[in-house]
Amino acid sequence: MDFAIEKQNGLMRTGVIKTPHGVIETPAFVVAGTRAAVKALTVAEVATLGGQAILANTYHLLLQPGVDLIEKAGGLAQFMGFLGPTFTDSGGFQIMSLPKVRVTGEGVIFRSHIDGRELRMTPEISMEAQRKIGADIHMAFDLPVGYDGEADFAKTKHALTTTHAWALRCLEAHQGKSFAGQALYGVVQGGKFAELRKQSADFFAALPFFGYGIGSIYNAKEAEGLLKIMHQILPAERPRHLLGMGAEPVDLFVGVENGVDTFDCVAPTRQARNGALYTLDGRINIKNAKYREDFAPIDAECNCYCCKNYNRAYLRHLFQTGELLGLTLASIHNEYFVVQLVQKIRESIQNHTFFELKTSFLQRYYDKISS
Ligand SMILES: [Zn+2]
Repeated sequence: MDFAIEKQNGLMRTGVIKTPHGVIETPAFVVAGTRAAVKALTVAEVATLGGQAILANTYHLLLQPGVDLIEKAGGLAQFMGFLGPTFTDSGGFQIMSLPKVRVTGEGVIFRSHIDGRELRMTPEISMEAQRKIGADIHMAFDLPVGYDGEADFAKTKHALTTTHAWALRCLEAHQGKSFAGQALYGVVQGGKFAELRKQSADFFAALPFFGYGIGSIYNAKEAEGLLKIMHQILPAERPRHLLGMGAEPVDLFVGVENGVDTFDCVAPTRQARNGALYTLDGRINIKNAKYREDFAPIDAECNCYCCKNYNRAYLRHLFQTGELLGLTLASIHNEYFVVQLVQKIRESIQNHTFFELKTSFLQRYYDKISS
């Protein structure tokens, strides 16, 4: 595992993360494969649209099919037939989003959303589960707070103290066992409070994590100041991953500008399944009646398989009739759009045209309100 920075301009940079399963050229958008599958897409389609890496979720895989089975299969990449680098998140966010979660000093007690059985998650259990899943990059088990936007300073500070204590336990568990070629990211928290974000970044900067996940930020534009604070403190030579955010193009620009190297988000495929499709002129909903006789591609300037071969009227027809092909074609387009946008952002840093691209792209995208 290795990370090398190629070009740096202020906080933004281009680089290469080397993993045993190949390289990730950054900035990059990591494709969500929550349950060891990218929704509606084969891994061949993911690779063709430019997806370099896939992120799976430890909580979901722990419940189904179980991490022992994935270990037996030879690890996550082997299990899902993907040749590239993989990430797992810790499961902390999904568990904290469940009803009736109890947080103890040791970890959390929760009920499975599948069969209601009571389960326990601790930093050590998360590390062991991630070791068995065998992705290239693991996340420390944390206590995300602020995802509901309601946590006050005292509550956020208390959660941060727990996150830090658990991070030390994750580090110990990770170093204490055989984790050949697997890297651990610490997850910086602190909610919406600059003082706590600074404390958390100071704490993590001093520890030997390979890289950092940035947690509980769901709107990069609003949180631009917080991203700046954290990335000014975190060691520049280590990679940073913004967890679970990237639904809006503006967030990708603001994230990269403020030091983010990789993103992941379920939004492109989730929105695709609802018929909400990205175009350079804003998002459209393909189910709208006005596309009934529209024989243009979703986006005339898009080079994805869907836009090269199909038109809006056909896509609308697939959604109207509930044909599964509609989900695949829409997902190909949306994932391509976001992955390629981050690729364009990467090239713009190399060519010193980042700010021109940011201005022209965002003006056009947000200028027209489409339905
Ligand atoms: Zn397209």
